[in-house]
Amino acid sequence: MRCLFCKQDSSNSKSVEHIIPESLGNKTATLPKGVVCDDCNNYFARKVEKPFLESTEIKALRFREAIPSKKGVVPHLNGVLPDGSQVKVINPFPGLPLFEQSSNPIVAIETEHSNITKLLQKGTIITPAFVDEMIPKNTIPLSRFIAKIALESLALRFAKIDGGVDYLIDNSDFDPIRDYARRGSNKEWSCNIRRIYEIDKLWQGNTGDPYQTIHESDFLLIPVDENTDVLHDNPVIAYPFFVFALFGLEFTICMSDPASKGLDIYGRWLQKHGNISPLYYGKNEN
Ligand SMILES: [Zn+2]
Repeated sequence: MRCLFCKQDSSNSKSVEHIIPESLGNKTATLPKGVVCDDCNNYFARKVEKPFLESTEIKALRFREAIPSKKGVVPHLNGVLPDGSQVKVINPFPGLPLFEQSSNPIVAIETEHSNITKLLQKGTIITPAFVDEMIPKNTIPLSRFIAKIALESLALRFAKIDGGVDYLIDNSDFDPIRDYARRGSNKEWSCNIRRIYEIDKLWQGNTGDPYQTIHESDFLLIPVDENTDVLHDNPVIAYPFFVFALFGLEFTICMSDPASKGLDIYGRWLQKHGNISPLYYGKNEN
């Protein structure tokens, strides 16, 4: 057995790779032992997943939606009071997302000088927790995280086919995105980020029970005419895209092209399809 990322022998590896970190609420999307070796698994946890999970926007999202870490802790936020003093902002009802508490959620704060917990209403504290439309910027840690999920999600599909993972390992077309996720570089990989539905959206289940979608993903092949570079029905070339959404925050990465050309093509696809997310295109029609 070989590792999807470093291609080294991984027969003795013991760790099960979570495609999406457990700290984002994923318990089920995992790769079998050895698809990602212990070294790469460990590296990703420290150098790729942690920076993403600790980024301002994602930490605020985890706080707001009360998603516990692997150790069961919902992250706190650093806030500022109108008088300028720094406070630690805590969800007073652990495990309950802010929007489920009331239409005007309260948070608890602890100041540096006092352990007394005060309850404050929304708007009293200047903190990212209440910025509803926070869209993270595409940074190297962010796109490396998406690149890792993209390749692993593809491996999850290919693992169902005999020799499928070996094909992914040996296919050099995937080397750039593989190396970017595992080793990084000074160059950013383009990633399109936008909100496709509100963060607290409740969907209606078949039984009538409302539920939230934490994460969802899919692949999209966009056919392009090689000569004219426009979208084409009978293509010579097709660009592979991975689309991932976290509480309605959509991240799209072109798996073959780090430059902005891939995103230009995605932009044209969106334009042609009325800006609908590929996650929903052709799936919810009556
Ligand atoms: Zn490895």
